[in-house]
Amino acid sequence: MQEIRKADVVIVGGGASGLAAAVELRMSSPELAVLVIEKKDEPGRKLRATGSGRCNITNTKAAGYDRIMEFFGSIGLATRTYENGLVYPYSESASDVVKLLVGRAVSLGVDFICSEEVTEIRRLSEPDAESSLFEIESVYKDRDGVHKAVSRARFVILACGGKAGPSYGTTGDGYGIAKKLGHSIVSPVPALSGVECEEWNEYAKPDAHMLAGTRTQAELTLYKKGKPVMSESGEVQFTRHGLSGICVFNLTRRMRFDKENGESLRDFCIKLNLFPEFSFGEYIEDIREGIFGCLPIDKLLTTLLKEAVAGYVMELIKLGFECGEIDSGAGKSIYKKPVNELSPAEIKFISDLLHNLEFYPTMIRGWRDAQVTMGGVATSEIDEDTSESKIVRGLYITGELADRDFPCGGFNLSNAWITGLEAADDILKRSK
Ligand SMILES: Cc1cc2nc3c(=O)[nH]c(=O)nc-3n(C[C@H](O)[C@H](O)[C@H](O)COP(=O)(O)OP(=O)(O)OC[C@H]3O[C@@H](n4cnc5c(N)ncnc54)[C@H](O)[C@@H]3O)c2cc1C
Repeated sequence: MQEIRKADVVIVGGGASGLAAAVELRMSSPELAVLVIEKKDEPGRKLRATGSGRCNITNTKAAGYDRIMEFFGSIGLATRTYENGLVYPYSESASDVVKLLVGRAVSLGVDFICSEEVTEIRRLSEPDAESSLFEIESVYKDRDGVHKAVSRARFVILACGGKAGPSYGTTGDGYGIAKKLGHSIVSPVPALSGVECEEWNEYAKPDAHMLAGTRTQAELTLYKKGKPVMSESGEVQFTRHGLSGICVFNLTRRMRFDKENGESLRDFCIKLNLFPEFSFGEYIEDIREGIFGCLPIDKLLTTLLKEAVAGYVMELIKLGFECGEIDSGAGKSIYKKPVNELSPAEIKFISDLLHNLEFYPTMIRGWRDAQVTMGGVATSEIDEDTSESKIVRGLYITGELADRDFPCGGFNLSNAWITGLEAADDILKRSK
């Protein structure tokens, strides 16, 4: 007969929110039996990759910041806070955060079962019964094949994340499990990811591949159907396919569209202002009389921009000139003229390009590249203070599995920590 494991709390997923909840539960109540079932061969795989291996654990502006810092203080994590509010472990090592969390959990007596995938959760008592009992079904593989395992618990924390970064174990399993228990799922889509753009199309002119591998500071504005949606400033990375970098990631959270109403990604445009601090037109006026005034525009641009970006802009200028978008009159073409001979119309044309360099997204890079999931279990069905399901008592839905996503800067991990801790606090209160 199959053995049934028993615990007070089963946590599905040993990621950020699952580990925080496990440690908190045993730290406050050593008599509670806590079992973490993790699909990968070890807990915290994604955590190790966060913040490019540095783990931006939280942000001074994040909801629950004080509680999160108190928790990490209680397990002995030293942190450093940067001027912009970003908080990292003092060692700047994501592995240290995982080691500390898992080490604390193990020393406190949390049981871990790894390389086992939860496939279904069944409620054995009535949905609204005060005292719940869940049956958790999972599968694992060994040399003899695939086997089923069953665990029972009074409380379940469903902490198995979303779909972003599937190589870390997050393949969207929680959606099916939650749906079977009666929850609604807002369609998950990847976010905080790079975007592929039309300008990298093999027929595009100029060919934006010349930009690949270059980084530049800019102010980015996302437009939808010609209207500005949001702006972000920072470092843009040009890749082999399009645009990347934290400011681009943040824009992708606003690139939702309604297919059924005829909308598409084609409705969006990202404009880069390469000189957010000053007007290029006024700059030209200022330098006209000086030594830079004698430089042709291509040489001047290389004094202000990375070579590849200057080259790309020059190609656009040439194109505008050849297509007659800009009339340079008789004589020298626009890109041979010294800056002090440029006409007001030519200066305006160049200035418009530099302040509004346009890129048209064709695709948001998929789950493999995305840092978070937009969509998930409907938040209207989850208690916002405790993360308990409003549909199934005793079930908690934490972290990225719920339809909550945030910009870069430690906010997504903050959401995972705080929802895990609040779920643990509620279970502790109810099991007294
Ligand atoms: C590359 C990368 C870098 C990031 N950097 C940052 C950063 O610096 N700061 C920040 O705030 N956010 C960052 N994020 C986002 C952040 O990591 C997530 O939002 C956060 O980890 C979500 O926590 P979670 O507890 O919901 O799930 P996760 O941490 O994703 O953990 C879920 C766990 O559940 C397990 N699991 C899944 N299905 C099952 C199943 N069926 N049975 C058992 N176990 C299962 C998974 O293997 C996984 O271990 C980053 C994300 C990525 C991909």
